[in-house]
Amino acid sequence: MLGLNVERSAAPLRILCVGAHSDDIEIGCGGTLSQLARRRPRPEFRWVVWSAAGSRAREAERGAQKFLGSAAKGAVQLHEFRDGYFPSHLHAIKDAFERLAREFRPDVVFTHTRDDRHQDHRVVSDLTWNTFRNQLILEYEIPKWDGDLGQPNLFVPLSGSAARRKSKALLNVFGTQRGKDWFSEETFLGLLRLRGIECRAAGGYAEAFHARKILFSL
Ligand SMILES: [Zn+2]
Repeated sequence: MLGLNVERSAAPLRILCVGAHSDDIEIGCGGTLSQLARRRPRPEFRWVVWSAAGSRAREAERGAQKFLGSAAKGAVQLHEFRDGYFPSHLHAIKDAFERLAREFRPDVVFTHTRDDRHQDHRVVSDLTWNTFRNQLILEYEIPKWDGDLGQPNLFVPLSGSAARRKSKALLNVFGTQRGKDWFSEETFLGLLRLRGIECRAAGGYAEAFHARKILFSL
């Protein structure tokens, strides 16, 4: 399969990841971010979680640390918007997005996919497109009850060990979610394996994204 390589330039890549809740970024693109964090020059990350209070804030910090390593230092920005109620906080979240865009100018943005049926995820996806108009936006997917997984068109291959490391890390970091019937290593590995099949990943696994617009500069 033909590949699309992120251009290797001397300047560090600036990467923004946004997630409605603690664990969204890690589930959606943890493996990809871990690989990016090892690039040289080391990318500059901003990791924004919009609903992370109390124990969920500690999990968000640990998640960023686990997946980015030392690149997580100074990258994490947490908000405390009420879980499940983002549509009714739209104005305040939009203002916070505008502030974020003034503080940090990313090259690449990782966000929820537009067709995600979770109301909080959808608000974050919409505001990402609303706010960042000169960036490559890659939308990640979250497996869940809603059954809203689509047909992604951009794949990041992962080795078997990277896929297993990701799945174990999710269970390890997000203790508050372990009681949910879907939150299991099996779910995460299953989706990674399926996406690996779809892109013929050499290691058998992959994370997948929806890339709605890509500028092909020649
Ligand atoms: Zn979520």
